[in-house]
Amino acid sequence: MTQDYEYIIVGTGPGGAPVARDLAKAGKKVLMVEKGPRHEKALGFPFGPRILEGGGLFCRSMEGVFIARGITVGGSSMVYNGNVFNPPQKVFEQMGLDFLQEVEEVREEIGVRTLPSHFFDHCVGGKRMIRAAEEMGIHFREQDKFIDPSKCKIGCDSCMLGCPRSAKWTTRAWVDQAVEYGAELKVSAPVEKILVEGGKAKGVVIKGGDVFRGDRVIVAAGGVGTPQILLKSGLKNVGESFYMDPMDIVVAQAKEPGEGAWKEMSFTHAIEEFKESDHFIIGNISAMAAIMTGFMRLNVMGKNFSRLPYAKRGMGLFVKLGDEHQGRVYENGKISKPLTDRDNKRMQRGVDLSKEILLKAGAAPSSIAVGRGIGGHPGGTAAMGVVVDQDFMTQVRNLYVCDGSVLPQSPGVPPSLTILSMSRLFGKMLLGKVMAEERKPIA
Ligand SMILES: Cc1cc2nc3c(=O)[nH]c(=O)nc-3n(C[C@H](O)[C@H](O)[C@H](O)COP(=O)(O)OP(=O)(O)OC[C@H]3O[C@@H](n4cnc5c(N)ncnc54)[C@H](O)[C@@H]3O)c2cc1C
Repeated sequence: MTQDYEYIIVGTGPGGAPVARDLAKAGKKVLMVEKGPRHEKALGFPFGPRILEGGGLFCRSMEGVFIARGITVGGSSMVYNGNVFNPPQKVFEQMGLDFLQEVEEVREEIGVRTLPSHFFDHCVGGKRMIRAAEEMGIHFREQDKFIDPSKCKIGCDSCMLGCPRSAKWTTRAWVDQAVEYGAELKVSAPVEKILVEGGKAKGVVIKGGDVFRGDRVIVAAGGVGTPQILLKSGLKNVGESFYMDPMDIVVAQAKEPGEGAWKEMSFTHAIEEFKESDHFIIGNISAMAAIMTGFMRLNVMGKNFSRLPYAKRGMGLFVKLGDEHQGRVYENGKISKPLTDRDNKRMQRGVDLSKEILLKAGAAPSSIAVGRGIGGHPGGTAAMGVVVDQDFMTQVRNLYVCDGSVLPQSPGVPPSLTILSMSRLFGKMLLGKVMAEERKPIA
């Protein structure tokens, strides 16, 4: 048993860090509890994958879908690509809460921008894919990024391995600010369950038995971590409606030397025009990402094994699908993520389009291989309206959830800005600055 806190926040990703920072700034006594350590050394290639659950290779659903999430201070922001998308209006409508104001505040504070054009001067494969799509009447949009170009190295593609230059903004920045404002941070402290007394949350129990007591507990352990904690704590209706935006990666090699995407950055451009009609976006990947896909999906490795000497010619496209919320996270950590017929049909359309673009961009037809089912946007498992109310509170008093698991359905675009902004609004609500009723979305 240790000292008491006003707020205990479980998890330091986009759900936990903003509210922790803003509460600490307001002078509240805050404890952040994080399952992972603070990895500082050997980020990037080749050791970066160790900050992913199961090294990125051993965390899969029962159906074999890869589920990527960062277990480290900063959570999955340490492994995200840093692409920035505003929440679609449907997110506000599903939640009955409008936080567009916070979206603008977060964008402004972090300094969202596209990369300067000289970052792309050397790119060959990427430009060929963009041109090929244009010829088909499809437009790639240059992406907004949480990246400071002055710290970023041209040709580096290590965003998803933990940026070794701190060029990519992660929630560690706000965790550190929270500590400067007086918050405490416990690392390598996996929360097992919530301490509930007299129907109220009173603290957290760490694996091994340590207890931290606090007046209010905010669970922000992500779309997989949060339901595990809540289920172990006896909450009902938790863990259902799981989605995670599965991605199929279409990998290829250019026919000619020097025409692949060697030393290019992945996900700098994306086709967004199918996100409403077919719920997918398509983005570019580098030769290095194509090689990494081979380690995750052996069919891709096998198909291109004899082509390994030509790996620098690699190029590819991913199709990221906003899937239907049909999966489930169980108390024992097992995950089920079946894809529905509609999911499969939509994904196939994206894969077919990607193959067409790659062929037009000069890919060797025999090199094309598809790595199926890799995803990293888990959510839906503690949905607002089902598990939490509009004050983010669960059926247990003073027990709140604020992370990807609260979003009832997949936003259909990478969700970090959505989650960061929602957490900022939640902080204002806890501080009594805003009430949920004042944020009803205008129909
Ligand atoms: C490879 C990859 C690329 C991505 N790229 C993008 C992108 O470009 N743009 C974008 O918007 N989004 C991207 N995402 C998605 C984005 O990173 C996540 O949606 C977002 O980080 C989710 O925030 P969260 O707070 O819900 O969960 P997380 O960020 O997963 O944070 C949860 C935190 O809780 C901790 N935790 C878990 N269990 C426990 C426990 N029992 N006790 C204590 N702590 C616990 C974890 O260690 C972690 O720190 C990407 C994700 C991945 C994996």
